[in-house]
Amino acid sequence: MLNRRHFLATSVAAAVGMASASLAMAAGKGLIGISMPTKSSTRWISDGESMVKEFQKLGYDTDLQYAEDDIPNQLAQIENMVTKGAKVLIIAAIDGTTLSDILKKAHAAGAKVIAYDRLIKKSGDVDYYSTFDNFKVGVLQANSLVAGLKERFGSVKPWNVELFGGSPDDNNAFFFYDGAMSVLKPMIDAGAIKIGSGQMGMDKVGTLRWDGAVAQARMDNLLSSTYTKDKVHGVLSPYDGLSRGIISSLKGVGYTPGKDFPIVTGQDAEVPSVKAMLAGEQYSTVFKDTRVLASVTAKMADAALQGKEPEINDTKTYNNEVKVVPSNLLVPVAVGKDDIQKVLVDSGYIAADKLK
Ligand code: BGC
Repeated sequence: MLNRRHFLATSVAAAVGMASASLAMAAGKGLIGISMPTKSSTRWISDGESMVKEFQKLGYDTDLQYAEDDIPNQLAQIENMVTKGAKVLIIAAIDGTTLSDILKKAHAAGAKVIAYDRLIKKSGDVDYYSTFDNFKVGVLQANSLVAGLKERFGSVKPWNVELFGGSPDDNNAFFFYDGAMSVLKPMIDAGAIKIGSGQMGMDKVGTLRWDGAVAQARMDNLLSSTYTKDKVHGVLSPYDGLSRGIISSLKGVGYTPGKDFPIVTGQDAEVPSVKAMLAGEQYSTVFKDTRVLASVTAKMADAALQGKEPEINDTKTYNNEVKVVPSNLLVPVAVGKDDIQKVLVDSGYIAADKLK
């Protein structure tokens, strides 16, 4: 009897579910709210798509929203997810410090909160953090900058370098910068690298909202104020979108891609930037496989909902000023021109025809 009733209940639910998406939600394991910062960078698009796939595989429904880098917009979208009864919120914050009130409400409603890629700060209502080793990203960027300087400007001393940082409202930006400076600072102190403009520190080199146009304008200024006589040999850039602005600026004053072009780093393996690498404009990028991050995060959410302890590999690094958030850190990979085929194409992250 019990079995028959169970059979009837599931087949009715399945039939109704097929007819109506909203009732399918009731038949599934529940709703997951996914709040992404912007579609202006392709990485967040692939993060969102991969997460929807992963959660569907595990039997969940999803509400995926992009806030177009507008903080009130992101708050409203998260509020709406809580109202709809989301069991887990997966949030890549625009400004990591602005979410405390809504997260308090989410926790009061029984939802779990996972900070995705970017740490959510100043809130006790963050359960877990799923990201990459962000300090290591900076180390990889600086190492490739130095390798490029040796390769292209081996006989020059000192190397003239300029530094760019990410958005000061994104905790990651500080980790990238600190990671990079752990490599560059000793070389600056030893006189092997000269920061021509003297501009150092996130307060001077940060780029609000990771905006490529802002980076381009700052590079224009640096070139006209500091490099009318001397050449710049390298630019530390923490993100492909900024690198493209910086490269436009360099080309605008006559640097031509090829053997004397300044070494410019990046991050995210975005298609236009990988093409710029093939064209000899950008020197390197850092690849963070968003498919793996999405999969790890979906498993984290699933475990938490089942009352199990999710896989965590760091309980020390990410103090959000209220608590140390238990984290799972994935490994970033440096990519130079010669690694594109193996790391990005063969892995299926970028289709070969997109690079033509
Ligand atoms: C991410 C980077 C990305 C940047 C700009 C950071 O929080 O970790 O992968 O390049 O935001 O979107």
